Amino acid sequence: MTFQAPKGVPEYLPPRSAAFLAVRAAFAGAATAAGYSYIEVPVFEDTELFARGVGESTDVVTKEMYTFADRGGRSVTLRPEFTASVLRATLEHGLHTGQLPVKLWTAGPAFRYERPQAGRYRQLQQFDLEAIGTEDPAVDAETVAIAWAGYQALGLTRVRLLLNTLGCRQCRPAYRAALQDFLRGLDLDAPTRERAEVNPLRVLDDKRPEVRAQVENAPLITDHLCASCKAHHDRVRSLLEDLGVPWEDTPRLVRGLDYYSRTTYEFDHPLLGAQSAIGGGGRYDGLSEDIGGPPLPGIGFAVGVDRIMLALEAEGLLAETPARVAVYGVPMGEEAARRLFAVVNELRRAGVAADMAFDGKGLKGAMKGAARSGAAYALILGERDLAAGAVQVKNLASGEQTAVPLAEIIPTLQERLAGAAMPAPGA
Ligand code: AMP
Repeated sequence: MTFQAPKGVPEYLPPRSAAFLAVRAAFAGAATAAGYSYIEVPVFEDTELFARGVGESTDVVTKEMYTFADRGGRSVTLRPEFTASVLRATLEHGLHTGQLPVKLWTAGPAFRYERPQAGRYRQLQQFDLEAIGTEDPAVDAETVAIAWAGYQALGLTRVRLLLNTLGCRQCRPAYRAALQDFLRGLDLDAPTRERAEVNPLRVLDDKRPEVRAQVENAPLITDHLCASCKAHHDRVRSLLEDLGVPWEDTPRLVRGLDYYSRTTYEFDHPLLGAQSAIGGGGRYDGLSEDIGGPPLPGIGFAVGVDRIMLALEAEGLLAETPARVAVYGVPMGEEAARRLFAVVNELRRAGVAADMAFDGKGLKGAMKGAARSGAAYALILGERDLAAGAVQVKNLASGEQTAVPLAEIIPTLQERLAGAAMPAPGA
């Protein structure tokens, strides 16, 4: 019997998996540069946290959660997203009683029982960033700029930033009522009419053409904002302008999770087809109270690492196979293998990524391994070299080969590799 990975769960194998780590690293780098610290939160939580935190009427909570009873009879759920967990951990450990805002990032898998298709998975990978305990619109702009910097660092050039505001507890109820009035006058099917009563904003997000056409003239939140939401929104936009981050005002943009207020945004990639959202975020000023905490405004985003991988592929940025190591040992015989094993280990300690041929491979097989590894240099050690206390250093690009005394091999290679693109160990 053979096994396959569960349906809708992408795996990342070498050499592509190097790009997967690079995506995380690009966003982690941008977050770290802005003073965000790493937080590790559980993969599963009390089901109630997500029910309250994500919203009882959302698709995520009603249809998509991986919920089960553990052996102690507690209802637990695999995290469908990170924000609720990060906020729960912040409250539980009192991080919000220190310096504000609390700035955190995390990354890993989230789980949603969706219908799998290209770019939509049941185990999805996110990079998540949260700034908790601030109402300053500059932090809204900061989160947008960090995500933007992450995409830029990866070399993506086609990313679009869609920006909106959802108003606040002051102005949204009146807008909601106006939108509901409008939706009640439309010719909608029963489930959509029901949705219009429970969560009318979500109807604006309906992808079906017949619904889209009808909501074309729906009232817009941007025409119903209170003075402070309008000022907040204008400030975010002018700060983004100062930073040179381009955006598109998208007054119909809503998001699938209930907790958003004021600033909301999405990053979209035009080459990805139906699942084109490669990240999204926004403000969640009421979420802390929803999960039993004190008033504690916050803003954050999550980007989809799987979809960013697809975007990199679509822009032709995944084509090259990255080198695994810089140096590859090719031993001829048992004693040579023993000496090279020590040399390779020393290289690694000196910060030079190195590997070697194992299993007593012959010259031909070992050189094939060297080529496949992407190494810049092969170290060939035969019996005659051993007797002479030297090793042959072969430049695998030019074919040029020189004998270097074994005692000088580490500084010689460091020198030759300096300036050349050298993968760090584990990169
Ligand atoms: P959300 O947590 O729904 O705001 O999603 C944030 C980002 O995660 C989206 O913009 C997508 O890039 C990604 N994402 C959400 N759901 C999925 C999924 N089922 N499969 C792959 N990526 C997803």
